[in-house]
Amino acid sequence: MAGSDKNAEPNSGIMDIATYVPGKSGVPDGVRLFKLSANETPLGPSPLAKQAFADLANHLEDYPDGSASSLKQALAKAHGINVDNILCGNGSDELLSLLAQCYLRPGDEAIYTEHGFLVYRIGILAAGATPVVAPETNCTADVDAILERVTGNTKLIFLANPNNPTGTYLPMSEVRRLHEGLPENVLLILDAAYAEYVRKNDYEAGMELVSGSNNVIMTRTFSKIYGLAALRVGWMYAPHHVVDAIDRVRGPFNVNAAALAAAEAAIGDRSTVDNAIIHNDEWLTWTTQEIEKLGLKVTPSVGNFILIHFDGANDKTAAGADSYLTSKGYVLRLVGGYGLPNAIRMTIGTQEACEGVVSSLAEFLNS
Ligand SMILES: *Cc1c(COP(=O)(O)O)cnc(C)c1O
Repeated sequence: MAGSDKNAEPNSGIMDIATYVPGKSGVPDGVRLFKLSANETPLGPSPLAKQAFADLANHLEDYPDGSASSLKQALAKAHGINVDNILCGNGSDELLSLLAQCYLRPGDEAIYTEHGFLVYRIGILAAGATPVVAPETNCTADVDAILERVTGNTKLIFLANPNNPTGTYLPMSEVRRLHEGLPENVLLILDAAYAEYVRKNDYEAGMELVSGSNNVIMTRTFSKIYGLAALRVGWMYAPHHVVDAIDRVRGPFNVNAAALAAAEAAIGDRSTVDNAIIHNDEWLTWTTQEIEKLGLKVTPSVGNFILIHFDGANDKTAAGADSYLTSKGYVLRLVGGYGLPNAIRMTIGTQEACEGVVSSLAEFLNS
C-alpha cells in the first residue's frame, strides 16, 4: 500500500507497547500436551459452571444482563460486601485497562513493580501516560521503592498480590504501610488474581482496606482457581466513585451471558475450589522441593505457579530448558518480557504433569 507517511497515527504511547505474548500451547505432533504456561487450574471448572454454560445454549439470541446484577449479588453475598461497590469485567484484564483509561492521561504517571504483571504497562502506555517501574527486592515488591517514586503526577499504583510471574506476596501490614504513604488522590489497585491459593496468615486480598478507604481497588478473576479462563470474567471491589466512573466507560454488555451464568454457578460450588486449593498445596510444595533438589533455584511461591531460575552454566539456560521441555510435551512460560531472562515459569499442573516436568528437567540438566 502506498503513502505510508499519510497513514492514520495511533495516539502517543501506543507504538511503545510491546504486544502481549500469551503462553504458547504447541508441542511436536504426536506428543501429549501439558499446558503449564498460563496458570490455568489443571482440575477444570465446577460441574455446576459447565452445566450453566451448556444451558445457556438455549438462549443465545438474548443480550446478557448488562449490569451483571445476578452475579454481583452472588459475589456480594459470598464476600459480605455491598453490591454497589462491585463491577464485573471481561476478565480482570479489562478492568485493569479501564482503570488506566479512566484515570490516566498524557503527563500522568502510574507505578508498577519491576517484575509486575505486564498488563499494567500496556494499560498505562495505551492511555498515553508514563510507566514508572519500582525495583523489587528478591523478586518481591518493595514498599519503600514504590513510595519513593510517587510524585505530584502519580495517579495509579498497580500491585499484583501475589505477583505473577514471581509468586511472591506482600503481607497485609506492608500493603497498609504502602496505602498510608499515598496521597488520597492516588488510587492503589490490588490485583488479587491468585488470592484463593494463598495459605499465609499475614496475607489478605485487601477487601477491608477497600471498605475502609476511598482510594483502594481490589480486582479478582474467575480465570484462575475457578477454571473459567476461556469465558473471560473478573470483577472489582471499589469505592463507589470509581465504580461510577468505570460504569460510564465500559461496554454496555462487557461480560457475556455464558460467563455470567458460569461464574455465578461456580460461586455456589465451594468443594471444587477447596479441591483445587488442596491439590495446589500438595503439588506446589512437592514440585518446589524436587526442583530445588536438582540444584535449581525456585522463588518461594504462594500462587499456583513457580519461577525456576537457571544460572546458564554449561549452556543450561532457561531457553534451553524451555525447548527441551516443549519437546517432551511440557509447555512452560519464558519470562524474559518480565525482566527475568534466566527464568521460566511453571504452572502447577496435575500430578502427572508435575512429575513429568521434574524428570524431564533432570534429563535436561544431565544431557
Ligand atoms: C491471570 C491474571 C489476571 C487475570 O486476568 P483475567 O483477565 O481475569 O483472565 C490478572 N492479574 C494477574 C496478575 C494475573 O496473573
